[in-house]
Amino acid sequence: MSRHSLNLDDALLTYLRSVSLREPDILRRLRAETAEMEDAIMQISPEQGQFMQLLVELIGAQRCLEVGTFTGYSALAVALALGPQGQLVACDLSEAYTAVGRRYWAEAGVADRVDLRIGPAVQTLDSLIEQGDSGRFDFAFIDADKPNYERYYEQCLTLLRVGGLLAIDNVLWGGSAANPDDDRPATRAIQALNRRVHADARVSISLVPIGDGLTLCRKRA
Ligand code: CA
Repeated sequence: MSRHSLNLDDALLTYLRSVSLREPDILRRLRAETAEMEDAIMQISPEQGQFMQLLVELIGAQRCLEVGTFTGYSALAVALALGPQGQLVACDLSEAYTAVGRRYWAEAGVADRVDLRIGPAVQTLDSLIEQGDSGRFDFAFIDADKPNYERYYEQCLTLLRVGGLLAIDNVLWGGSAANPDDDRPATRAIQALNRRVHADARVSISLVPIGDGLTLCRKRA
């Protein structure tokens, strides 16, 4: 019975949510507003947001990184889990999408916990490293342009402390990650990242089949 993870059909997903989801109203409203937008598929699922909140609580994270903020759902989820002293550096290219998130962060009273950096995340992460923030973050979440995933992975590992946790989204890529004949750049990038993480002795890992696949990496040294 436990050889496979269950394939969640709609009925089972509805049940899973009915007995586990504790999505606050403000997150529910942000999700509903985003669902009406183009690119709504880029938003993480509510059960994944809640899972990430649990991870942040478990490791007692205070300093967090996010690569790819979109309309701010995951940032809001993490910021709510952080507590008043916590800080989240959120990287995104889009003023328009993140403006949605800003409204909800303000309404939730967590705007002062979110340090939004508009611009290419590779540069933002490099500037953090240059200013001496290496080893100073507890938690990082990568959910952005796939061709840069390997760079983000290395940069986030540098910025995490030993024992810190990195979560990488979309590692199953709608199932395409398992297709060796899919030569789209994003699929190739995810496949390369997955191989790299699997072989990387610097991290303890688990690929969790939640949402579109979420790889967790704990930095060992
Ligand atoms: Ca994603």
